[in-house]
Amino acid sequence: MSQTLQAIRGMNDILPADAERWEAFEELIRDWLTAYGYRPIRMPLVEPTPLFARAIGAVTDIVEKEMYSFTDSLNGEQLTLRPEGTASCVRAVLQHNLLYDGPKRLWYLGPMFRHERPQKGRYRQFHQVGVEALGLTGPDIDAEQIIMCSRLWDDLGLNSDGSIKLEINSLGQLDERAAHRTALIAYLENHADQLDEEARRRLHSNPLRILDTKNPALQTLVEGAPKLIDYLGSDSLKHFEGVQRLLKDAAIPYRINPRLVRGLDYYTLTVFEWVTERLGAQGTVCAGGRYDGLVEQLGGKPAPACGFAMGIERLMALLEAQEGFIAPPAPDVYVVHLGEAAQRLAFRTAEMLRDSGCAVFTHMGGGSFKAQFKRADASGAQLAVIIGDDEAAKNEVTIKPLRVAAEQQRVPLDELTIRVGEWLYGADEETTEE
Ligand code: ATP
Ligand code: MG
Repeated sequence: MSQTLQAIRGMNDILPADAERWEAFEELIRDWLTAYGYRPIRMPLVEPTPLFARAIGAVTDIVEKEMYSFTDSLNGEQLTLRPEGTASCVRAVLQHNLLYDGPKRLWYLGPMFRHERPQKGRYRQFHQVGVEALGLTGPDIDAEQIIMCSRLWDDLGLNSDGSIKLEINSLGQLDERAAHRTALIAYLENHADQLDEEARRRLHSNPLRILDTKNPALQTLVEGAPKLIDYLGSDSLKHFEGVQRLLKDAAIPYRINPRLVRGLDYYTLTVFEWVTERLGAQGTVCAGGRYDGLVEQLGGKPAPACGFAMGIERLMALLEAQEGFIAPPAPDVYVVHLGEAAQRLAFRTAEMLRDSGCAVFTHMGGGSFKAQFKRADASGAQLAVIIGDDEAAKNEVTIKPLRVAAEQQRVPLDELTIRVGEWLYGADEETTEE
């Protein structure tokens, strides 16, 4: 007996009821992004491996241990399934010279791949909505991106209790980070005996990341560490204050978290995360910030940039708990029919109704009228259109309301769409358009 095949661990099927919720979410997302002037971009799922090593940084969780990398056996190229979107997006912007006529606001949505230990809220194929603004220097765009997140939580009805909380920090500029880094390494070296293996490995390559450790044993140590914010110069502080002023104007509550450093190397100045306790350990639903150095690092003319990414699975988990986010979809009309002539008329009828904008489910698989009505009822359709031998012979159909107590009505075929329109949208309207 052959074994049933299974999906790869950590890579999920999204079944119809969930997929419908995803689609409703995606529709809302598009309107929201359009309202802030963002335009869509789609990048490949596979990129040359050096792109991520260069963009994300060699000593990061992603590049050290999470990338799905392989050699293309056809030509020997080193390739990687994209672990995040920013590097690809900037690569595309540079490759197509999109910044030639000024700043760009871009967004994308799609799967990302990281070889992580699968658990609730952490998968190997997961999905992000990514939002990037390139070419803008001021704190205004940072603030607008945070404000737009806040609007999305409202649009989704997710934050009426304030349980998705905003944390912000500033990572300053490279030279400020360098000064802090020296102090941080000295501090950590003084406490070398307390470090775990990972921290010891990162001590001289990426000490900032040690502050982000998830090891509970290191928490007291990192809390006492030198804070990056104390090393910021006046320009960086001014930028950070600018962001905060706009957040206050927008009445968005936030907390400055000096240990918020983000997993990727490319961030500068503002970083932020939206975190909730409603999801257990994997509570960050959205993370982002400014990455002024990345464009140049990937070979472009220096250009400032700011962006964020939302984990769709985590947002869907929040939405799942929320009744009524989407109504289960139902056809407008369910066509039941009995006999060969009736079946042929049923097909013509269904296409006519679709021409007029209706969603139509034509019964298939035969069965008595009684059995078909059971299906029609279960489908959630508003109306059944009934076609038997007698109707077929006279080119007529019977319309039967399924959700309200009312008489069924027999009509000539050429009146069908008008009558159906009346049933669905009220007697005043001649058409069945929305
Ligand atoms: P963490 O510290 O939790 O590993 P990260 O810094 O790796 O997070 P980002 O690279 O900033 O996460 O990704 C942005 C968002 O994408 C996260 O806040 C989260 O919502 C989502 N995300 C990241 N990795 C995963 C994953 N493996 N499965 C599901 N969602 C994820
Ligand atoms: Mg991670």
